[in-house]
Amino acid sequence: MPQLPEPLERLIQELSRLPGIGPKTAQRLAFHLLRADRQRADSLAQAIQDVKDRIGYCERCYNIAEGSLCWICMSPRRNSTLLCVVESALDLLAIERTSEFGGLYFVLHGVISPIDGIGPEQIHVPELLARVRAEGVTEVIVATDADIEGEATALYLQRALAPLAVTVTRPAHGLPVGGDLEYADELTLARAMAGRRTF
Ligand SMILES: [Zn+2]
Repeated sequence: MPQLPEPLERLIQELSRLPGIGPKTAQRLAFHLLRADRQRADSLAQAIQDVKDRIGYCERCYNIAEGSLCWICMSPRRNSTLLCVVESALDLLAIERTSEFGGLYFVLHGVISPIDGIGPEQIHVPELLARVRAEGVTEVIVATDADIEGEATALYLQRALAPLAVTVTRPAHGLPVGGDLEYADELTLARAMAGRRTF
C-alpha cells in the first residue's frame, strides 16, 4: 500500500486501537473524517477531550461520575439497604434501563481472574465489604455475568459477605449463559432481577 500522509496514517493507527475496529474499518473512518466538515471533526475531538477532562469515577460506588458522586448516589429516592454489584458501568446502565431496581450499586470494573493478575483488591472487594458494614445494607445482589469468571467472582463475594449478616442474592437464571449482562434484553434482565434468589 502506498505511504499515506503522516497525520492520516496516525489517525488510522489511533482508530484501529479502539475495540471492535479492525484496520479496514479504521481506514474507512479516517477517510470519512477527512471528508467531513471541519465543524464535525472539531466537535468529535472536543467530545473526546471533555469526557477525559470531566468524567471520573464515583468515590462511593465507582460508577462514572461528573464530580465526586454519581447521579445514583446523589439521588434521595434510592433505597440504600439494597446494593447491586455489577462488573461494569455498562451493566449498571443496562439494569437502570429496566427501571426494575431502586437500590444503589457497586461497580467492580472487572472480575477476579488470577491468570490476569486480578485479585479481590483490584476489583475493590475490601471497599465493598467496608461499605456493606458501614451503610446498613440488608441485601447484596451479585449481578456479575453468567460466564466462568463472573460465577467464580460471585462465589467469592458470597463467601466474603457471609460473615456480615446480609442476604446475598444472584439474579435468576434466564440470562444468557456465558453472555454479557449488558447485552441481555430489558425484559429478560427485569425478570432476572425480580426473580433473584439467595445462593
Ligand atoms: Zn455512585
